[in-house]
Amino acid sequence: MNTAEAFWARVNRGEPLSCWLWKGAISAGYGTLQWKPSGLRIQKAHRVAWLLTYGEIPHGLSVCHHCDNPPCVNPQHLFLGTQRDNMQDARRKGRRPNVKGQANPNAQLTELEVGYIREGLSEGYCPAAMARAFGIPWHIVSKIDRRRTWRHVAWNPIRPVDFNLRWSRGAR
Ligand SMILES: [Zn+2]
Repeated sequence: MNTAEAFWARVNRGEPLSCWLWKGAISAGYGTLQWKPSGLRIQKAHRVAWLLTYGEIPHGLSVCHHCDNPPCVNPQHLFLGTQRDNMQDARRKGRRPNVKGQANPNAQLTELEVGYIREGLSEGYCPAAMARAFGIPWHIVSKIDRRRTWRHVAWNPIRPVDFNLRWSRGAR
């Protein structure tokens, strides 16, 4: 596939504000296709939808769904992971972006990298974007965010006061 017309012909376009579902192949929940302008690599359909609508995806960022519906390619439902509320919403629902096989769950991070990840999450980058940027599985990012690991590295300002107050009061 190499034209915008061919791409959108594979999309079940409904109302402007509804989810537009990909009618082609699905992998790990996401629409996928071979997109010739990107050198025939398998691409996620919602990323191509972003590309066709808004232009290049900045390096290291993920295209995320407002609607939490992976096969949706409605450009109005997509964002680049800069909205904290949607990130938190996705995490609460346990949505797990496609984690590639080469990602190593035992990858060693440095404290500096963990600090960067916390900082990125606090800036509103979605966990998928952070996982991609650091080449680690999404659930590791999630654990770092929830302080299940790396507790000694700078605390995450997303949920600061509550955490600290309870800590200083000696509650468990
Ligand atoms: Zn949608």
